[in-house]
Amino acid sequence: LMMAYEPAKRLSRVRVKVEVGLRLVEMMFSLLDQPETLAEKDNPQRLPDGPGKITFDEVSFGYERDKPILSEFSLTFDAGKTTALVGPSGGGKSTIVNLALRLYDPQSGTVSVDGQDIRQASFETLRRKMSFVGQDTFLFSASVADNIRLGREGATDAEVEKAARDANAYDFIMKLGRGFDTRVGENGAFLSGGQKQRIAIARALLRDSPILLLDEPTSALDSQSEHLVQEALQRLTAGRTTIIIAHRLSTILHADRIVVIEGGKVAETGSATELLDQQGPFRTLYEHQYKNALQNK
Ligand code: ADP
Ligand code: MG
Repeated sequence: LMMAYEPAKRLSRVRVKVEVGLRLVEMMFSLLDQPETLAEKDNPQRLPDGPGKITFDEVSFGYERDKPILSEFSLTFDAGKTTALVGPSGGGKSTIVNLALRLYDPQSGTVSVDGQDIRQASFETLRRKMSFVGQDTFLFSASVADNIRLGREGATDAEVEKAARDANAYDFIMKLGRGFDTRVGENGAFLSGGQKQRIAIARALLRDSPILLLDEPTSALDSQSEHLVQEALQRLTAGRTTIIIAHRLSTILHADRIVVIEGGKVAETGSATELLDQQGPFRTLYEHQYKNALQNK
């Protein structure tokens, strides 16, 4: 009986390896319940080897034709900087990230990376340029090391270990029965949400892509593991073009720039101190948390 399962198991592991580059997009499609994939251009181009500046230029988009979510939306995400997108639920934050990942194409306008329209770019160079971490992380029924190594095939054990350390994952991994060789179970059944997020961060550290797209990476965590994940995220985002969607003030305060998105539009933008000094939408959103933060000082 055991033998009978072997070939299938080996097959599914091969699939994992072959599909590493596609995995992100496949997962996103299942999350978004969007079965069809976008086509690659006939003569796709390489994305330039730039630092990963992302530009939305008059982008209009709706999931349904007659329900626009973004209308002539323009915004530049500076290379190497962290931009936090905040604002009420349904405002369009995840849609902006979905368009940057090219899970959808705009109905008009362009999304470009380092000056290149991403519709012209090969999927391979586009994916290599970006890493995504969402609210939950998908883990394969494989070892912890293999799960981290999805970030970059061929990474050495030492590189996997270094990524785990930088992701604040090393200590908990060493406490698992067989360390890095421990199998994580179906979709990481044996691990907590915070542990899975730290494995996702280790993966992204190995990938070492210039662009990071983070959609509520700490929102499902308790405050203890949020702190460990937050610290790991700071190491990950340093020097990379990062778009982070987050709710907690503690996460947002680390951003170089904050953009408040309301109804598919930029309602306000600035640094945390600038925005807290103003009686604007950001201050309204964070009045409560802000007072608590001040009282705790
Ligand atoms: P946020 O991330 O700011 O909460 P979203 O970008 O997820 O906002 O959503 C913006 C709007 O788009 C909402 O009205 C939402 O219902 C709608 N929306 C999001 N995803 C889809 C989808 N796959 N199909 C149809 N409508 C969607
Ligand atoms: Mg969202």
